[in-house]
Amino acid sequence: MIPYGKQTIDEDDIAAVVAALKSDFLTCGPEIDAFEQEFAAMVGAKHAVVVCNATAALHLAMLVADVGVGDRVVTSPNTFLSSANCAAFVGAIPDFADIDSDSYNLCPVALEQHWQADTKAVVAVAYAGQSPDMPEIARVARAHGAVVIEDGCHGTGGGFFYEGEKYKIGGHPWADMTTFSFHPVKTMTTGEGGVLVTDNAEYAAKARLLRGHGMVREPEKLEGLGTHVGPLAERGPWMYEMQQLGYNYRITDLQCALGRSQLKKLPRFIERRQEIVAKYNEAFQALSWLQTPQVLLEASRSQISWHLYTVQIDFEALGKSRSEVMAELRSQGVGTQVLYIPVYLQPWYRKLYDYAVGKCPNAEIYYQKTLSLPLFPGMNESDVDAVIRSVKHLIK
Ligand SMILES: *Cc1c(COP(=O)(O)O)cnc(C)c1O
Repeated sequence: MIPYGKQTIDEDDIAAVVAALKSDFLTCGPEIDAFEQEFAAMVGAKHAVVVCNATAALHLAMLVADVGVGDRVVTSPNTFLSSANCAAFVGAIPDFADIDSDSYNLCPVALEQHWQADTKAVVAVAYAGQSPDMPEIARVARAHGAVVIEDGCHGTGGGFFYEGEKYKIGGHPWADMTTFSFHPVKTMTTGEGGVLVTDNAEYAAKARLLRGHGMVREPEKLEGLGTHVGPLAERGPWMYEMQQLGYNYRITDLQCALGRSQLKKLPRFIERRQEIVAKYNEAFQALSWLQTPQVLLEASRSQISWHLYTVQIDFEALGKSRSEVMAELRSQGVGTQVLYIPVYLQPWYRKLYDYAVGKCPNAEIYYQKTLSLPLFPGMNESDVDAVIRSVKHLIK
C-alpha cells in the first residue's frame, strides 16, 4: 500500500536519536538550542522557539499577539483544524474568509470584503506548501492594525517570489510570526513537534516564557515586575516565580536531535517532492476530468516544497463517486486522502458560531472535488508510475 504521505527515516536519523538518548539530557538540553538556531537560519528568521507540536505553536502565537475574548481571528476554511482552533483556545472568535479557486488559499479580496472591526489577527495558511498572496494579505490586515500569523505547516523550507525577489516561508516581512509542524506526514519530522519563528525579540521571549509554565528564574528579569513571592532581598538560588499563566509545551532533546538530522536532508526532500509533482502534472494534464494543482505565480513554482499533491476531480464527468474512486485506488494499493473539509462545517463550529453551508462557496466547491494522491520523498519511480497508472485507469 502506498500511503498519501510518509516520513523518511534513515540510519543517520536513528544514530542521532540514539546519541541523544545516551547524552546527559533527554529534555531541556543542548539539542533544543542547536535546533532552534539551525532552523531559524534555514528560514532566515531571527528567532525560533521549538515546541511539542504546531498546534501549541499556534496557541502561543495567539497569546503572544495578545488575542483573547472580544477579538476575532480570520483564517482559511481550507486548512487543518488547528489554524482556527487556536483562536478558540484563547476565547476569541475563529472566523473564515473564502479561498481563491486557483491556489485554494485564503483570498485577500475576500479577506478585505468581509473585514470586521474586531479582527485582531489573520492566520494565513500555505496550503499544500504554496504560499497565499502574503504581501496583499499583510497589506489588508496591517491597514486595520491586525497581526499576521503565517501557518507554514505545509511549507517547511519552501518559499515564493515577489517582484523578482525570492522569499522563504517564515523569513519575509509580511508575517509577524510563522508556525511549522514536524508531524510525520509533514515535510520533515521530529515524531511530534512544532516551531514558532519570528523576527520580533519580544514575541520570541514571551513564547519561550509561556512554553515553560510562565516561570522566571533569572533575578534580573524579575526586577520591576511588581508582586513577588517574597521580599527580593531574601531571594535564594532556588527561586522561581510565575508571573503569567503558561503551559508545558516543551519538546525533548531526542526529538530535536531527530529534527537536526532531518533538517540537513530537507533540500533533498523538497527536490524529490518537486520531481514527483512535475511527473504527476505531466501525466495528468490531458485528463479532462482532473485538474492538476495550479500555482498563483508561475515564478514561484520552483520554490514550493509541496506537502500535498491535491487534484480536483469532476466526479460526475468521471461517472464515479469520490468514495468509489478512493475504494478503487485502494484496491490497487494507492492510498488517498480528502483535505480539507471546510473547518466551519465541523459540528462544534456550527453549534458555537452558527456557521452554515454557503459561508465560503469556493472552499465548499473545492471540498466536493478534492482528492490528495500519495506524495513523499521515499516514493520510488515504480510507486509514482503505479499511482499514475491507477488514476488513468479510473476512466476505463
Ligand atoms: C499539521 C498542521 C497543523 C498542526 O500541526 P501539529 O504539529 O500536528 O499540531 C496546523 N496547521 C496545518 C495547516 C497543518 O497541516
